[in-house]
Amino acid sequence: MSGHVLTIDWNQALTEMGAGVFQKGHFVLSSRGHCREYGNFVVPVNINHRLFELICVGLIDLLNMEIFTINRTAVLLGIGTGAFYAHQMSLKLNRSLSRDKSKRMECSFAFAVRRPDGTLTLPYDQSSLINDQAVIFVDDVFATGKTYFEVGNLIQNAGGTPMQAVFILNRALPAIDQVARQSNFISQPKCLLHKFLEIWASREACFLCKQGMPFSTEFGKGPEEFHLHGQPPWPKE
Ligand SMILES: [Zn+2]
Repeated sequence: MSGHVLTIDWNQALTEMGAGVFQKGHFVLSSRGHCREYGNFVVPVNINHRLFELICVGLIDLLNMEIFTINRTAVLLGIGTGAFYAHQMSLKLNRSLSRDKSKRMECSFAFAVRRPDGTLTLPYDQSSLINDQAVIFVDDVFATGKTYFEVGNLIQNAGGTPMQAVFILNRALPAIDQVARQSNFISQPKCLLHKFLEIWASREACFLCKQGMPFSTEFGKGPEEFHLHGQPPWPKE
């Protein structure tokens, strides 16, 4: 799998294959920034969906495989939607790494969740999985880098080394480079698709709030879910 270069037009592939990639509405990101286009990479109901497989292979192709040859083992860590991708990638990587028995390289999987107060945590005592390990972070969207930054700290606090991060979509050019310089990750983050989508830093700065446009409820099941997804409290009527 390493050294194999996928020459896919991801913008075209994700749009044509019905990923619902650029959902229109009025959204609030975990950074509290507001936006009207959201990169939606929710895993299709059928986990063997061609698009899901394609994205997993594409993300694996972005990995620096030296992480495995140097460390022998590594952990793929995902959050939310990213956890589905990280898990599938770890299965695929283990199948390809195990072909060369002499090297005994291995890839394991871990996931973090966002608490209702918005902070990140590793449930089920997964710190022991990450301790002393090289960790690769997998996520669907890079927006402002808030999660990327938090995950770097989370991995270090659990005794791991944040090696690299891969994203399906970077929606915040060129902020990814600025955030990467300040983060704990050793390698530069990589993304399948770079597409600038506007973000307003606050409710006060938001063009849609000024127009009185209501928030989209497509995040889960409405007000309660909205908050669980790291969103600020549901706006009062
Ligand atoms: Zn707004």
